[in-house]
Amino acid sequence: MPKYCVLCNENRAVIKRPKTGQQICRECFYYVFETEIHNTITDNKLFKRGDRVAIGASGGKDSTVLAYVLKLLNERYDYGLDLFLLSIDEGITGYRDDSLETVKRNQQQYDLPLKIVSYEQLYHWTMDDIVKAVGLKNNCTFCGVFRRQALDRGAVMLGVDHIVTGHNADDIAETILMNILRGDIARLQRCTEIGTTGEGCIHRSKPFKYTYEKEIVMYAYFKKLDYFSTECIYSPNAYRGYARAFLKDLEAIRPSAIVDIIHSGEAFEIKSDTKAPVQVGTCERCGYMSSNNVCKACVLLEGLNRGLPKLGIGKTHRLRKIHGDMPENTATIQHFSEIKKEVDPLSPSQAQ
Ligand code: SF4
Ligand code: ZN
Repeated sequence: MPKYCVLCNENRAVIKRPKTGQQICRECFYYVFETEIHNTITDNKLFKRGDRVAIGASGGKDSTVLAYVLKLLNERYDYGLDLFLLSIDEGITGYRDDSLETVKRNQQQYDLPLKIVSYEQLYHWTMDDIVKAVGLKNNCTFCGVFRRQALDRGAVMLGVDHIVTGHNADDIAETILMNILRGDIARLQRCTEIGTTGEGCIHRSKPFKYTYEKEIVMYAYFKKLDYFSTECIYSPNAYRGYARAFLKDLEAIRPSAIVDIIHSGEAFEIKSDTKAPVQVGTCERCGYMSSNNVCKACVLLEGLNRGLPKLGIGKTHRLRKIHGDMPENTATIQHFSEIKKEVDPLSPSQAQ
């Protein structure tokens, strides 16, 4: 006896939904997947009409599905958003160069303007060069700090109000677990937030906060979306790897574990005297937001340029000491205030 979809009772069930275990048909899967994301967007008031929104696009499954679904929902529900693709080229041969080819195809397929910002152009260092200089231990610290700033710089060039990223429910649950295991209470609170609105920085949000990775893969597969699925060649990811494996084991026994962890993270009450990192001003060198006189990217870059790549790796109090030793006028990152909006708001297709 064929099983029928528990939602429409008309079509044959071809999918067991990872999030709920329901047996459903393909059309109902598309509908619930897209509608849950729409509900996340509207319940959390992520956008307002007329917003210019950059989708952080890596060519991987998450950001590819995000670009596809956001474009679809923008049209279906008339959000009134101007959408852009924004990619960061870290300069990783054999990985990012291939994945950027995917993003360029996505640009054609989804007809969205694309801006690519490279580490080489911003910092005069590629990740290939950084790995040669620092080895494979702290490379992701450099890459993470540089990427965050590169995205903001790309967003300023595009003149967008908002960056959305493809972080999914699994990523967020993993980060919550890691912050609990490390006792990083200040970060624990921040990592459960769906968006950030820090002053002076571009608004960021994660419309896939409650979307399961397995469902993203399933959606991409059934919709035959064009994405790139290789891991970064420099990924050590040891700690996150353990958290991920643990989460996958939990999910196998109890599929709701992922969303349960997110709800637990959201419900944690942080004692009011817990110190949270504060942004008190802007970097005196490059104008980027920073809680110190010089931002972390400028300190890391300084270390690279001076052949002391360990500068800036580690605790903040060490950083403060280092800032005192830093010679003036060695900044090589363009000052934030000098970044020009490159796109005429009336003709977004010029963004390339
Ligand atoms: Fe950068 Fe590390 Fe991610 Fe590779 S794994 S892209 S080096 S942060
Ligand atoms: Zn700086």
